[in-house]
Amino acid sequence: MRPHRAYVESLAPELRLTGPEAHHLAEVLRARVGDTLTVFDGQGREGRARVVELGRGWVRLRLEETWTADREPPQPVVLYLPLLKGDHMAEVVRAATELGAGRIVPILTQHCVVRELSENKLLRLRRVAQEAAKQCGRSVVPQVEPLRTLEQVPPVAQGLVAHPYARARVREVYDPTRPVALLTGPEGGLAEAEVALLERRGFAPVALGPRILRAETAPLALLSLVTAGEGF
Ligand code: SAH
Repeated sequence: MRPHRAYVESLAPELRLTGPEAHHLAEVLRARVGDTLTVFDGQGREGRARVVELGRGWVRLRLEETWTADREPPQPVVLYLPLLKGDHMAEVVRAATELGAGRIVPILTQHCVVRELSENKLLRLRRVAQEAAKQCGRSVVPQVEPLRTLEQVPPVAQGLVAHPYARARVREVYDPTRPVALLTGPEGGLAEAEVALLERRGFAPVALGPRILRAETAPLALLSLVTAGEGF
């Protein structure tokens, strides 16, 4: 079994886990004094820590070794994600974390059915990213940023917008040696004027095949092509 991974705020010589992390380690995995685990700080540092004491709801660890983890794509990948219905935002954030997105930016577009992102929902998405990072062996937790409008998407050096009426395929326009921003539409699709605006900001329209993908499938298909498909 791979060593257990726990998220810590910073890698200090003495670490104290509390809350769900401590509970998971002590009650679910039944860790004992002397056991080792991997700790990571969400900023790209990892370490090996040994359990030195267990209490009610807390675990004390000693850090024995640290290193810089590298499971990140060589170039940053930003995912602009429209507000989606139900729990689809969380599902996409989870999978996008596994697929290597470095930043996830919720956006409000013309045809979004859902029109707001509550503080609670944003915090939940951040927890989902943290949990997914832990499970997939990533040391960098993708940032989930506050909601912005499509007009607030800045010009990009390289961008891809998934559009069912586009002709280009991803591999015809994507340069994997440069940072990339990705954007897909909500359930109601993107308006032509929105696609035009994104093109002026540097996004190339790309097609993802002849079938219409659901709004929660499209970002993952696009992301897979720029990370997993390149071995990133
Ligand atoms: N009824 C909408 C469909 C929206 S699908 C329309 O006609 O536009 C939701 C989003 O997924 C789209 O805005 C687009 O970004 C993406 N998407 C779905 N299928 C796609 C495809 N075959 N190629 C490219 N993008 C696609």
